[in-house]
Amino acid sequence: MSGSLHTWYSLPDLDMLAERAAVLEDEIPLKQMARLSGLLRANSGSVRASLRFRQRLGGWLILRLEYEATLQLTCQRCLEPLVHHVNANVELGLLESDAVQSYSPEGVEPFVVEGGRFNPAVLIEDELIVALPLVPRHERRSECGPIADRVGDASNNEPEGDARQSAPSTSH
Ligand SMILES: [Zn+2]
Repeated sequence: MSGSLHTWYSLPDLDMLAERAAVLEDEIPLKQMARLSGLLRANSGSVRASLRFRQRLGGWLILRLEYEATLQLTCQRCLEPLVHHVNANVELGLLESDAVQSYSPEGVEPFVVEGGRFNPAVLIEDELIVALPLVPRHERRSECGPIADRVGDASNNEPEGDARQSAPSTSH
């Protein structure tokens, strides 16, 4: 069995990996992650990840996922490209069916294996999507492009054309 992170593993495969305390390490091009790519400014680059099979705990298969990626986002203050680095590790509990056990071991993020098949790349893509900033912005205002000056400060961004504001603003 190859140590790939973008193949489908059956439940018996997962058992075998758990028994061997296997470590899968791989690099996945971002362009192969369609859901994530749709949220990015550009889908160049890749995510490096490793998945360590730790132990069985009741119906749970405990895994440690580490991943690192550089994502191209768009700053919502100046609309210029924004480089976002992610580097995270998370302890996961794979569950073969959500009917088996309702509680999850402490500090473990549950992930239900749907249809008896598990693809680590799908899990990693989910993690990357969840970790995206809600409103991506350059950390410092001085990094922003010229549009930011016209838009004004983001902490004071009233929606434009608010219907209740009927008072005509003196133009120029
Ligand atoms: Zn910016």
